[in-house]
Amino acid sequence: MHIKEGRPEVLEDTKRVLWHYSAGQPGPVLVLLVGMHGNEPAGVKAVKKISENQEFFHGRFYGDVYAIAGNLKALEQGVRFIDTDLNRLWELFNTQKDYSNKNGAMKPVEYLESLEIKRVIDAIIARHSDNLEDIVFADLHTTSSQSCAFILLNDTLANRKLAGNFPVPQILGIEENIQGTLLSFINNLGFRALGFEAGAHNDEISIIRSEAFLYLLLNYAGNTVLKNAEERKYRDIIEVYENVPNTYYEVIHHKLVDDPAVFQMIKGFENFLPVDKGTALAYENGSLIRAPKSGRIFMPLYQKKGHDGFLIIREVSPFWLEVSGYLRRSSIHRLLRFLPGVTKTGSRSFEVDLNIARFLVKDIFHLLGYRVTEKNEFTLICYRR
Ligand SMILES: [Zn+2]
Repeated sequence: MHIKEGRPEVLEDTKRVLWHYSAGQPGPVLVLLVGMHGNEPAGVKAVKKISENQEFFHGRFYGDVYAIAGNLKALEQGVRFIDTDLNRLWELFNTQKDYSNKNGAMKPVEYLESLEIKRVIDAIIARHSDNLEDIVFADLHTTSSQSCAFILLNDTLANRKLAGNFPVPQILGIEENIQGTLLSFINNLGFRALGFEAGAHNDEISIIRSEAFLYLLLNYAGNTVLKNAEERKYRDIIEVYENVPNTYYEVIHHKLVDDPAVFQMIKGFENFLPVDKGTALAYENGSLIRAPKSGRIFMPLYQKKGHDGFLIIREVSPFWLEVSGYLRRSSIHRLLRFLPGVTKTGSRSFEVDLNIARFLVKDIFHLLGYRVTEKNEFTLICYRR
């Protein structure tokens, strides 16, 4: 892993670093990200509550925990973002579209926010560079619709292992649909990273669930040891509704919205609600949008900011996950380049010509833990996470 020079002084900025608690000796390093969206204060409030309860950890705390505030400007105003979504621009770093290349042009407020956050992350990584495999990130959010708590993760075995401790639905591979998230950026640095979604933006329960998630995460990451009764209490708080199986899900459809001003979800779609193919879901520019597939509705957009109209997810069988875990640890990867239409383009990447390899290609690469994105209509890019 490449370690950037860290500037330790950025860790003293108490506006950005909301909480740092240290046992003063090596141990797990948990990095919490809160308020990446300014209209999602639940994570910020939960961190504040825990940080004020430090006697709770007295004599049973190991390693370090940091909490970093996300979009400070947007949090001040209580809006999702000011100029552009802070949680969609992390793929731009060091690319043609990097805002820093726009000499003289007005840069979005969020670009500066992202640079500051990146500096803090670099400083934490540099400070704990002798302990890199113990660093874990978690990003706390809420949704615009009513929802039970759930976890988002990039589908790596290390992430699955950590996420599997929590009694909530786990959504795999979201990064293939929603690009440029901080979570993916961190995963690409090689660290474990989980996203936690606590519930609706302004529900009191979202703060309570975020707090419970954080205590459990501190426990499962190894920063503290909860008593059995405490662990049970926090698990009960985040536990999902009976009608939402607490299992793994994958995204099977993603409705992108160009202009959220002309997109209107039909009322009443709670997150995870089962929908049949053909169900009327939304209006865009006056025309009706129906579900193209059966599954469960996921993250329906009930606010006028953001470009993800809704997603449809479906359960993944635990058997399939077992098989994929086994295969990923095997040496089968070496055989992929012999598949028809598959070209090796790097040590961890392949291109797939869909004119030749029509069937099952995406499934095979998913199974083996590759991130699959479309280069164009005829070509897939598969990258090993
Ligand atoms: Zn969010």
